Amino acid sequence: MSAPVIEFNCPYCGYSNFSPLDPLTGVHQWTTDCENCCRPIALRVRVRGGEVEEIDVSPEQD
Ligand SMILES: [Zn+2]
Repeated sequence: MSAPVIEFNCPYCGYSNFSPLDPLTGVHQWTTDCENCCRPIALRVRVRGGEVEEIDVSPEQD
């Protein structure tokens, strides 16, 4: 069984980041920092039945 992790590209620099995922069904939103440029990234992930259906990545906005 693989660890619940998603891969996404930084919207600022394009670096490939990984983030742990809450595998519960639903929409999860959180903010993480790019490992390369350290800028804040807003993640929105939709999960159903333990599978990732959709990942939205955008620059964090205040
Ligand atoms: Zn970056």
